This record gives sequence, C-alpha cells and structure tokens, in this order.
Amino acid sequence: MAERLQNYIDGKWVDSRAGETFVVRNPATGEILGETPLCGPDEVDAAVTAAARAFPAWRRTPVENRVQHLFKLKFLLEEHAEELARIVTRENGKTLDESRGSVRRGIQMVEVACGAPSLLMGSVLEDVAGGIDCESVRQPLGVFAAICPFNFPAMVPMWFFPFAVACGNTFVCKPSEQVPFSQKLMWELIDRCGFPPGVLNLIQGGRECVDALLVHPDVAGVSFVGSSPVAEHVYKTAAAHGKRVQALGGAKNFIVVMPDADMDAALDAVSESAFGCAGERCLAASIVVPVGASADRVREGLIERMKAIRVGDGNDDGVTMGPLISKPHLQKVTGYIEKGVEEGAELVVDGRGVDANPDGNFLGPTLFDKVKPDMTIGKDEIFGPVLCLMPVDTLDEAMKLTRDHPLANASSIFTTSGKAARQFRYEVEASMTGVNIGVAAPMSFFGFGGAKGSFFGDLKAHGREAFDFYTDRKVVISRW
Ligand code: NAD
Repeated sequence: MAERLQNYIDGKWVDSRAGETFVVRNPATGEILGETPLCGPDEVDAAVTAAARAFPAWRRTPVENRVQHLFKLKFLLEEHAEELARIVTRENGKTLDESRGSVRRGIQMVEVACGAPSLLMGSVLEDVAGGIDCESVRQPLGVFAAICPFNFPAMVPMWFFPFAVACGNTFVCKPSEQVPFSQKLMWELIDRCGFPPGVLNLIQGGRECVDALLVHPDVAGVSFVGSSPVAEHVYKTAAAHGKRVQALGGAKNFIVVMPDADMDAALDAVSESAFGCAGERCLAASIVVPVGASADRVREGLIERMKAIRVGDGNDDGVTMGPLISKPHLQKVTGYIEKGVEEGAELVVDGRGVDANPDGNFLGPTLFDKVKPDMTIGKDEIFGPVLCLMPVDTLDEAMKLTRDHPLANASSIFTTSGKAARQFRYEVEASMTGVNIGVAAPMSFFGFGGAKGSFFGDLKAHGREAFDFYTDRKVVISRW
C-alpha cells in the first residue's frame, strides 16, 4: 500500500484526518511513491496553535542556545545529504548531480542562520538628546509559515525556516503536495535536533491548506514560492489579514548575448541554464536575445549543445536532463510547443517524442527561433525545456524587450565589453542579474527574489533580508 504522509505537529508525527489525498509519483517511471493528505483548516489550526504555544518560551531562549539546534541540524544534513539528494531525484526527477547541488545550497542556509547571534544585533546611540539614549533591537514576531513549490523540494523550505527560528519565531511549513518526501526526511532530522515541541511544524496539503494559513489569526507572516498568479493571491489575502508577506512568483528570464561574447563559454552557460533541471527552475533562461552578428552563432552553437543532452531517469549515470514533474505539466509544456508552431515561430529543435520511458514525463530540449514578444511562447512562463530565440540588432532593443515583459526575476548578459555590461546591470529591472553567468542565483548570504510581477512584498528571501523579514525593529528611547 502507498505510504500516506503524516503531519509533524507539536514535536510528534500525527496521522492526518484528511479524506482527500494527492497521489505522488516518480516522474521518471510513473511509480506511485505515496499519498499526500490534503489537510484543511482544522489541522492547520492544530499546527499553528502548537507553534503559537511554543513561541513565548522560544523567544526567551537565548539566541546562542537557539542556534545550537541548527548546528545539530547542519551536521545531520551533512550525514544525510546523499540520501536527501536521492529523495529529491526520486520525487522531482532532476538529475542526481542537480539534486546534490540543491541540497548543498540548502545546507548553506542553515550555516548562515547559525550566525544569528551576530546578525540579529541591533544598534545604540547615546545622547540623542541631553541624557537620552536610543537603541534599536530586533524582536521576533510569532508564528511564520512557508508555502513551497515542487521544483526544489529540499532547498526552498530551507530558505525560510532556519532564519525564522534562529530569530526566535516558531514555524509551520507546507511543502508542495507533489514532492512531500524531502521534507519528511528533513523533519525526521529536525526531530533529532532537540527543538522544543511546537517550534517547527510540518503540514501536508494543497490549496485549502494554504488558504487556511493565509487567514489564521495566529500567523504573523507568510513566505511563499510558486507561480505568479498564486503568489499574488497569497500576497493580497495574507496582507489583507494583517500579515507580513514575501511572495516569490514566476519568471520569464532573458539572456542577452552580445557579438563580442566569449561564445563557447556563453553558450555552455545558456544551454545549462535553459535545460538544467528540465527548465523547471525559476532562474532558467527562457528567452535568448542574440544581438547583431551573434544570431547565427548562438543558434548553431545551441543546436550543437542540445544534441549532447541525454534525457532519462535522473538516477542513471550519464543522464543530463530528467523528466518534467507530472503528466499534466508535460501536456501543458507540449501545448506551448504546439502554440508556438501555430503562431508562426520557427521550431528549430523539437523535443517531443523523445525516446525514454513512456511511463515517465519526458520531453527533449526544444528550440524556437524568430519568436516575437506578443506570441504566447514569448510571453508566458513555460517552465520546461523550451528555449526561445528573439534576435535584435542593438543592446537598446534587447533592453526594451526585458522592460516590456511584466515578469522580472533573473536576467543575464554575455559580453566582453565593460560598457555593455554596465548598461545592462544599470538598466535591467530583474533583481537577480548575471554578467557572464547563466543562472544568476544569489547564495545564502545574499537576498533572493525578483521584481515586478515576479515578486510581491518588500523583503526578499534569505541573506540579511531574512533577519529584517523575521523581526520587528523596536526602537527604545531612555532617560534615567
Ligand atoms: P504553484 O504556484 O502551483 O504552487 C506553489 C504552492 O502553492 C504549492 O505549495 C501549492 O500547494 C500551492 N497552491 C497551488 N495553487 C494554489 C492556489 N490556487 N491557492 C493556494 N495555494 C495554491 O507553483 P509550482 O508549480 O509548485 O512551482 C513552480 C512555480 O514556482 C514556477 O512558476 C516557478 O517560477 C516558481 N518558482 C519561483 C521561485 C522564485 O524564487 N521566484 C523559485 C522556485 C519556483
């Protein structure tokens, strides 16, 4: 019988009472891995209530003691990193190397959060007026929740909970119902770290569970990562219920390739950016904009690199691209390929009908040329291994293309010209910007998040900004 996932509430694993479940499958084989119960408001309330009960004592626990639990977690994660990576590949489909990389990036979050004793410090100024001192201290706010996407099952929750609890808040995590097993292992490790009951809770579910978190009176703030329409819904609903919100949404990432670029290095990076993780990355290259004379070399160079991509089960040696997450998602992405052809783009490489396990959700790398900004494939986030070429004559035209798009998560330029690089980094609106970098992913000690329709909120994920998001800066003015 398929394993039914449990919740972790108040320091204990508990069975869910939910009647409805989501069937979790291995995307490479179609094998049923388990069932995620789709919890409703009553079980959300149990998790939030446990977190709210744990908050007063946890916030009084000295920060130096709080982070000791995270140090334990860091070492347990090191011991179990390979096991975690294998679970990520099994439930999400990305290759084992990609999973290992994502687990490493996640562990780095815990490492940065362990620096809370320094990073949480406030500031003081004596004699702001005669005999009056002023200090600013950071205080935790209560219960925070995170709502996570399917594409980085181990890493994305780690963008949030280590920082939240290091700051003295308590936490409820809702993983994507499509990939619940990575967080199952994470919470088994958390269970061994000695956190007091209720500090870290795990709740399984989908939309109904999310909506219950967004309106719960005891939730002080919400972190969300997922598609833009849901990010906007989460932002508006949670904010209307008086919560802090950071909602990271979808992407349509432009990569500009100048004629003076180191073309081999640029195309290696572009190909990896577009087709790594089967294009299911919020930082994936979606549109390549070759400028001037670079157009033919970019097209030919990408075709050559795409031929070398081996599609298959991410567990198998030599496989460089795994399957898409699900059959419905595969249908959605192939629907975009059909739409691209219908609307007149040139299909240069067609990934449909790839020779791999028919029970898996496989699609080969796909390339369109002569894509126009008003075509569906030029506008929508596809979230699969489909790359669009939009050649232009000048850098100014390339910049206009990026400006005209409503999403602005990540964007990169490849060039050997300092002048072009400066213009790009100065003008581009995407807040994760690369210069000769294919995947402009900020590491744990910097903030992560986009702009325009790719981000709803003010403070980004992880880095120093996490300490701002998870605390209130109280100012105390004293005269004795
Ligand atoms: P999604 O929006 O479908 O789901 C994200 C989460 O929201 C899940 O936990 C899901 O259960 C919940 N959810 C789904 N629909 C909902 C609804 N109508 N109401 C309330 N909750 C709902 O996203 P996904 O398909 O899991 O992930 C892929 C998306 O995430 C892509 O758009 C990708 O760009 C984005 N993403 C963004 C970033 C970033 O940093 N900006 C990082 C990773 C992924």
